[in-house]
Amino acid sequence: MKLFDAHCHLQDPRIFDKAPQLIASAIDSGVVRFAVNGVSEQDWPLVKQMGETHKPHVVPCFGLHPWYVADRSPNWLKTLRESFDSTPSAAVGEIGLDKGKKMGDFADQVHVFKQQLELAKELKRPVSIHCVRAFGDLLEIMKSLGPFPQGFLLHSFLGSAEMVPEFANLGGYFSFSGFLMSMKASKAKRMLKAVPFDRILLETDAPDALPKSEESEPLQPVEGDDASLNHPANIHNVLVYVASLLEIDKEEVAEASYHNAVRLFSY
Ligand SMILES: [Zn+2]
Repeated sequence: MKLFDAHCHLQDPRIFDKAPQLIASAIDSGVVRFAVNGVSEQDWPLVKQMGETHKPHVVPCFGLHPWYVADRSPNWLKTLRESFDSTPSAAVGEIGLDKGKKMGDFADQVHVFKQQLELAKELKRPVSIHCVRAFGDLLEIMKSLGPFPQGFLLHSFLGSAEMVPEFANLGGYFSFSGFLMSMKASKAKRMLKAVPFDRILLETDAPDALPKSEESEPLQPVEGDDASLNHPANIHNVLVYVASLLEIDKEEVAEASYHNAVRLFSY
């Protein structure tokens, strides 16, 4: 069985030192590709380096995440464009919208998000999108700038079943992480069953989104580290949970999600 972690942050300072070891143990468990998402300008060189060191396992992704929009430098967009120019295999991400508490100016977030979506369209790259409490705004923006023939991934998707077809028609893929276990199971099941089988992806969002072990298989802790940290080998837990809600064999879900991710990231 082969798996593709469609969205994670192995450059995160909490796990950066252990990344080579985490990648090796994940590969041993069958997780052979990792879309590693930079979230700020400081991250981009680290992600680029990781993509070179762990070729072809790591798919580098460069983006400015809504949490870091306020701290951007005046040259951020130029630096981002240069990162893509020097890394033809890179995707755009993580970018998005967040109306969670303590978030700053939403209009500024929208402006930065649209700039990055336009860059993705111009450079013909797929996009990894974060959305918290802003699905209405997101859909409106995606409709105004879409469709997206290179595809986009809605990461840790927790939207409703009703939203699925509209995003799917614009080029959307739906990626599931341990956060799915926080959604009511009946609602999660209805939403998952609305997702076209050729648009399902699995991710860990490591080092966040640690799955709950009672929902799936025993977790593999990061050795000698904080037990709350997640890592890519735990994607097996997400797989078991998603397969159980879909009532489909996990091998079949693994195969479909792997091929979906390869299609999305091999533009
Ligand atoms: Zn993320």
